[in-house]
Amino acid sequence: MRYLWPYRLTALGAFVGLMISSLASLAGPRILAWGVDDGVKALDLAVVWKSCALLVGVAAGRSVFGFLQGYWSEVASQGVAFDLRNAIYDKLQRLSFSYHDQAQTGKLMTRVTSDVEQVRQFVGVGLLQLVSALVLLVGSAVILLRANWQLALAALSVVPFIFAVLGGFIMRVRPRFGAIQRKLGALNTVLQENLAGAKVVHAFAAEPLESERFTVANRGLVEEWQGLIKVFSTSFPLIFFFSNLGTLLVFWLGGAKVIVGEMSVGQVIAFNLYLSLLLMPIFILGGLAAGLSRAGASAGRLFEVMDAEVEVRDRPGAVELGAVTGRIAFEDVHFRYPGMDKPVLQGVSFTAEPGETVAILGRTGSGKSTVINLIPRFYDVTAGRVTIDGHDVRDLSLDSLRRAIGLVHQDPVLFSGSIRDNIAYGRPDAGDAEVEAASRAAQAHDFISALPEGYATEVGERGSGLSGGQRQRIAIARALLVDPRILIFDDSTSAVDTVTEQRIQEALKRLLVGRTAFVIAQRLSTARRASRIIVLDEGKVVANGIHDELLATSAIYCEIVSSQLLGDEDLAPAAAAAPPAAGGA
Ligand code: ATP
Ligand code: MG
Repeated sequence: MRYLWPYRLTALGAFVGLMISSLASLAGPRILAWGVDDGVKALDLAVVWKSCALLVGVAAGRSVFGFLQGYWSEVASQGVAFDLRNAIYDKLQRLSFSYHDQAQTGKLMTRVTSDVEQVRQFVGVGLLQLVSALVLLVGSAVILLRANWQLALAALSVVPFIFAVLGGFIMRVRPRFGAIQRKLGALNTVLQENLAGAKVVHAFAAEPLESERFTVANRGLVEEWQGLIKVFSTSFPLIFFFSNLGTLLVFWLGGAKVIVGEMSVGQVIAFNLYLSLLLMPIFILGGLAAGLSRAGASAGRLFEVMDAEVEVRDRPGAVELGAVTGRIAFEDVHFRYPGMDKPVLQGVSFTAEPGETVAILGRTGSGKSTVINLIPRFYDVTAGRVTIDGHDVRDLSLDSLRRAIGLVHQDPVLFSGSIRDNIAYGRPDAGDAEVEAASRAAQAHDFISALPEGYATEVGERGSGLSGGQRQRIAIARALLVDPRILIFDDSTSAVDTVTEQRIQEALKRLLVGRTAFVIAQRLSTARRASRIIVLDEGKVVANGIHDELLATSAIYCEIVSSQLLGDEDLAPAAAAAPPAAGGA
């Protein structure tokens, strides 16, 4: 209803159109009765002509207003669907990482598309029909009662039974429609995952398995529909039975009245037509009962997303992060992923001074990515605090906080569009020269220029058509272009060769002056160059210092250096203490 409100005038127009065409329908039988009794039976051709002309007028009126009703209700319902889709998309933008960690893409897509459509259909057709069916029902009941109350009561006596059946029907189908939308979501999830992972499927020759998985989901959907059809097919014959009983009663009682001369044949015919006008809205209500349950189930699913709590959001009175110096401190930070039992970070404390480049090292799963996820508030700490220039990040506006940070993810995502658009994602107004400068620093300019269409080259979904290392360099350029005071690289050069990595480091060295940077990397050169090294183990900081210092004092750091870091130091072959498979791309 709230979403329909902006379109209230259009909806009102549709409603008036519907009312006029419904009233015209009610006038029809009256005119016909008059034509039969005063025209045909009285052998008066003029009355027959007149009644015909009136019936044509009524039919024309029904068409014109029927058109207006159809057009306006479509306009209103499309408007509602447009706003609903936008609202749910906006909400999805604001929902926290923890929500997206659990939600399945296919299921969310089903809500944005199919569930919105169910609601739209009800708003566009169902809601108006519901109102008009009720008007028709009351109107024809009044007319019937006035025409002949005895016949009318006999005919109306079946209505409570019909409503009882309908009521039971609604109770039974609503949960089933919810289940159908869920099954549809499950089906879309299989589809979406399969398409996104097509290469893996082929690589493992898992096509038969995938087909089977889809068939199972598909069958689940069909079985749900079959269950629903059973409810339909047991309810509606019963409704038809009761309505036929009503017609029969009228024929019997009416026939008796004609025989004793209490009613004319024309009156009985008109009465029977009104009876069908009475039954029609009842059938419409029956159909709507299904539509209403379906729209209700879908609306429930939509508002589940719309009302989902946004865990990470601006506090009231959140302050804008102004000019950033770049001092970042973790103060006894504890963190547990929402819904998980095991803490991932346990009392992490360290400080990164402005201008420092901090390398975060540690075994896989030790919490490196988690630490840097807390700086832009992708998640909120469970205890302790993270500060930037002394401000708790939770007191800052999300917008200003995230604008101050340039981030290159472990697994960078590119969007469909040109390479230029991807690099300029954070600053769409950037000039070509700026885009090129950022690409040069990321060592991406050379390979981009070598492409036939250069910066205008379209990349596919998820950046297909580019190598892993090329994607990473575009992601680095994208982060650099925003010119943030704080830069975070999460294993961003894992897919480029050592020579390119070296060049990126050289370029970054100039760029990073005066900025605070966090680098998660598997290369010794990165660790050596860092102004501070933080070593994490099982969610705790186990070493904090510079390379030479840690080499002398920290056993765990020595172990990491010898076993983990790729020994590409200075690219000197002799210094290569690395395992044979080293070398990234
Ligand atoms: P890697 O070097 O492999 O990237 P990492 O040090 O970056 O590892 P994290 O990604 O920080 O490790 O993960 C730390 C722990 O948190 C792991 O045990 C992981 O299973 C868990 N974890 C990571 N992300 C989530 C999540 N979204 N929900 C629940 N647990 C998570
Ligand atoms: Mg990681």
